[in-house]
Amino acid sequence: MNKLSIVVPCYNEEQALGYTNAELTQIINKLVESGKIHKASFILYVDDGSKDSTWNMIEGFRKQYPFVFGLKLARNVGHQNALTAGLLAAMEYADMVISIDADLQDDVSVMEEMVDRYREGCEIVYGVRNRRDTDTLFKRSTAIGFYKLMKLMNIDIVYNHADYRLLSKKVLEQFALYPERNLFLRGIIPSIGFRSAIVKYDRKSRVAGKSKYPLGKMFAMAFDGITSFSIQPIRMITVLGLIIVLCSLCAAIYALYSYISGKVVAGWTSTILSIWFIGGVQLLSVGLIGIYIGKIYVEVKGRPRYVVEINDLTEIDHEEQ
Ligand code: UDP
Ligand code: MG
Repeated sequence: MNKLSIVVPCYNEEQALGYTNAELTQIINKLVESGKIHKASFILYVDDGSKDSTWNMIEGFRKQYPFVFGLKLARNVGHQNALTAGLLAAMEYADMVISIDADLQDDVSVMEEMVDRYREGCEIVYGVRNRRDTDTLFKRSTAIGFYKLMKLMNIDIVYNHADYRLLSKKVLEQFALYPERNLFLRGIIPSIGFRSAIVKYDRKSRVAGKSKYPLGKMFAMAFDGITSFSIQPIRMITVLGLIIVLCSLCAAIYALYSYISGKVVAGWTSTILSIWFIGGVQLLSVGLIGIYIGKIYVEVKGRPRYVVEINDLTEIDHEEQ
């Protein structure tokens, strides 16, 4: 009933993986011994097209431990896709999955708490960072900006939560119904629903190796997150267009007034009027077209409209009717 899978996306993690495997095998043994998880629980390493010896290491662990498995992707597809590959593969064989990065920045000891919450009936347990002391000031402030921006764009995400979380099979089955290609798990998971909880931990610095998320990738991720979740930017363009059209009315009054009072050179009034008015109308039109494209975008993603938690109708015996 309580079969756990720990899914770890790895990209060029040869320096960190030895430490990570030692900690994860230890925690899985501990949880099995305490009877909180089934003894067939396992760790799944996803090699995201690493160019170093990551896969060889995973194969080594596989030989050493019966509960370690590997999934090798044919090329590097990025953290979110690699994680999704792992989640969907593990889903078939587990009742709950915990995803964690390969660099031990997230505290593995709170996995026990996550499992406890699951056993109490939570379907999603978010790992939330208590402090960000180990991150640089820059990373901290960009992160705060990121959450503010997300809020502005109407995207519901859990504050200070990255991709360290427990998901039940039920949630994963729903997640599998999201056919979209632009993945932003931190946005999708809360949008599914179900009972959830958070557990807090202190985020540490990387155990070894370098971050695979340099500044460029971080911005790309934030931009991706916004554009795959929100058509708010398009709405903003439309509003801006409307504001400019309104401003053009004020500009028109001013220009006409100047014209009547005879203070202007010939041609100025018509030029200034056209610039303002045409500019506003163009922006408004682009925004309106954008809104239709936004709707197409939402339709194309084909996300489920709702997720059913309990349906009593399924208990009706069809034979009796
Ligand atoms: N990762 C991955 N594919 C990539 C980049 C990163 O699977 O293309 C993995 C990486 O091995 C790590 C996790 O994603 O397990 C998070 O990356 P990292 O720790 O470098 O990010 P940071 O914590 O610095 O934001
Ligand atoms: Mg990291």
